[in-house]
Amino acid sequence: MKRFEQARLERERRTIEAMVSRFCRGMHKTAGPLCAECAELLDYATARLERCPFQQEKPTCAKCPIHCYQAHRREQIKAVMRYAGPRLFWRHPILTVRHFLDAYKEAPSAPRRPAAGG
Ligand code: SF4
Ligand SMILES: [Zn+2]
Repeated sequence: MKRFEQARLERERRTIEAMVSRFCRGMHKTAGPLCAECAELLDYATARLERCPFQQEKPTCAKCPIHCYQAHRREQIKAVMRYAGPRLFWRHPILTVRHFLDAYKEAPSAPRRPAAGG
């Protein structure tokens, strides 16, 4: 995988981490590490990202034609993004803007490798 493609996936991983962390602080009033529920969600989202069948051609998950998340995980991550997206803009403007720019990337019609279960 080329370096800039790896960088994009790494940026996405950092964005998810920042969003879950912001959500946990605001909604679950944590001051240090994530609560168990958010830690589990972050592990899940990170594993999905690592196993994403699109890899370097990955669209944003919101535009994904497959959506590999379990239904309840999808609802959880949507709640995190709704809450943390606008709040993170001021703290991580570049990460946030690039994430939203990535949202304009068209989803490829088919992944290069099949989605891993989970
Ligand atoms: S398959 Fe779709 S939903 Fe799953 S990680 Fe890749 S882009 Fe996101
Ligand atoms: Zn939490």
